[in-house]
Amino acid sequence: MIDGQTQMVGLIGWPVEHSLSPVMHNAAFDALGLNWRYVPLPVPPGQVEAAVRGLAALGFRGANVTVPHKQTVRQMLNSIGPSARHLGAVNTILIVRGEDGSTRLGGYNTDDTGFAGALRMGGYEPEEGRRAVVVGAGGAARAVVFGLLWSGSGEIVVLNRTPQRAEALVSDLRGFSDQGFRLHTLPLTVETLVESARSADLLVNATSVGLWPQSERSIWPESVSLPAHLTVFDLVYRPLETRLLRQARESGANAINGLGMLVRQGAVAFEMWTGEAAPVDVMRAACERALGRV
Ligand code: NAP
Repeated sequence: MIDGQTQMVGLIGWPVEHSLSPVMHNAAFDALGLNWRYVPLPVPPGQVEAAVRGLAALGFRGANVTVPHKQTVRQMLNSIGPSARHLGAVNTILIVRGEDGSTRLGGYNTDDTGFAGALRMGGYEPEEGRRAVVVGAGGAARAVVFGLLWSGSGEIVVLNRTPQRAEALVSDLRGFSDQGFRLHTLPLTVETLVESARSADLLVNATSVGLWPQSERSIWPESVSLPAHLTVFDLVYRPLETRLLRQARESGANAINGLGMLVRQGAVAFEMWTGEAAPVDVMRAACERALGRV
């Protein structure tokens, strides 16, 4: 029930109607008996400044931010957290209201900790001496590389179809860690992928290859078995079992789907807004139910 005490959060993006976040967060509020609601907020390009001012004026406690506003929204906030600053993108806003009614808006990025948490839950510990191959160089790949760096991973190789984009990612993030890590790039081809994966411990798909409705596509060639010693993490969660993850299971590799990352980045935002421990299992089950309906 919504009443005069209900606290509001929402998702700013364009489009937002297919997002799982409303289902995930509202299930969490219900499970903890919190009088909070999460609503989708479709904001067309060019309207994000008005939307963010509106959130503060309307008493919202915060918001998530998705494409195409993750970069532009930074200019409208009073402070930016370290991950959001390094990644150049905000996915969570926290609105703090002073006693005089003034508001301060903080921008954060929870994708990197979401990824690292899901990776560990999937049984992989990123550490010195372990080698990761990340395919993709978009916003999600940046969060993955940043999450690996934070977690102390060893060598990281970024492969991307457009090599310049991978080079930009590496040059932006290379200066971040002083742990002697090695971060470099290769153009994405079947040969570079297969060769890099042979000597790696972790393979991450951070591209949109395999995403519904093109679910039969995979970054990995059908003619080659995936090395059985690998952990394969696919950020795609529509469908939950991508073709890449099927290939991984068939060759005996450890396969992790993208839902854990979605749930964990949501859990960090939930805890920031409410101050309560997020009911992660409830959030995951709500997403699985919603995905079952796709
Ligand atoms: P993005 O910024 O648009 O980047 C897309 C990436 O996919 C680029 O590296 C692009 O390569 C690559 N790509 C697209 N089509 C390709 C193809 N046919 N062959 C090879 N590479 C291709 O998107 P994003 O925000 O990083 O998201 C990437 C994926 O991660 C999406 O599937 C998204 O749903 C998923 N994701 C999941 C979570 C989660 O919580 N699980 C969070 C964020 C994103 P080019 O640079 O060459 O174009």
